Amino acid sequence: MLTDLVVALDIGGTKIAGALVDGDGRILVRAQRRTPAREDGETVMRAVEAVVDELAASSLWPLAGAVGIGSAGPVDAGAGTVSPVNVPGWRDYPLVERVRRATGGRPVTLVGDGVAMTAAEHWQGAARGYDNALCMVVSTGVGGGLVLGGALHPGPTGNAGHIGHVCVELNGDPCPCGGRGCVERIASGPNIARRALENGWRPGPDGDATAAAVAAAARAGDPVATASFARAAQALAAGIAATASLVEIEIAVVGGGVAGAGDVLFDPLRRALRDYATLSFVRHLTVAPALTGTDAGLLGAAAAVSPRRTGGAPVSLTG
Ligand SMILES: [Zn+2]
Repeated sequence: MLTDLVVALDIGGTKIAGALVDGDGRILVRAQRRTPAREDGETVMRAVEAVVDELAASSLWPLAGAVGIGSAGPVDAGAGTVSPVNVPGWRDYPLVERVRRATGGRPVTLVGDGVAMTAAEHWQGAARGYDNALCMVVSTGVGGGLVLGGALHPGPTGNAGHIGHVCVELNGDPCPCGGRGCVERIASGPNIARRALENGWRPGPDGDATAAAVAAAARAGDPVATASFARAAQALAAGIAATASLVEIEIAVVGGGVAGAGDVLFDPLRRALRDYATLSFVRHLTVAPALTGTDAGLLGAAAAVSPRRTGGAPVSLTG
């Protein structure tokens, strides 16, 4: 039985993915285009329309009732617009209205990509069964989202849970967001690699100087690589502990490319949490790796459409 079939769109700075997703979270049809991120706004929109057209060619298309979008942020779910940092051609771009038109007038729900990943993890992943959770994506940047009282909590504009830009170092380095000492400035993949290089770590013969290469070096016992991950883990732990103190989360789920480092990240993260999450009501916080992987954006976009999937009220339906 195909129940609750929805159109899901996952829009990032590198790719635009689309899918038809059923009520059990099964992805039945997929389409994908590269994001022409440096082109003008209309060219980027044509890539979105190409993804939609490919999905619309499926015999299942007429059964799909609504559209969910998870987009790189910032987004403004109330206004139905997006201004992704890595897509300069889109500033206050009316994505909801354009997708509504491209999909034959279907209702469209928009959330930020961190909120989408959180919806996916709450529906199908490591946060399933938890009523209060912080989910994070640690990769090129650091994003996140919240589940509170059993329901996804996107906030008024769809950006709540933006843990990457919580300050954990008062006089820290300036962050591209305009702030200082943000979690992202310390814990993102590029910053893990940058700090390791600054402190004398050198890539191997393949020249790979990414956080994944730093993780491999840490696993092999390199002290500088290990220290760079420990520092990232400290920043993440401070951000998680602050969130837990504010809203009493029971679990923090960490996904994204940097989480692929496994124990190299999670061991120092759990140790650092013992230093920062000290009050009785945050001490038993669980930390777990994300489970939904590269489909998190699509599953989350689908989950954001349906209150039954996210366990609460529908997130601001614009369209
Ligand atoms: Zn910042």
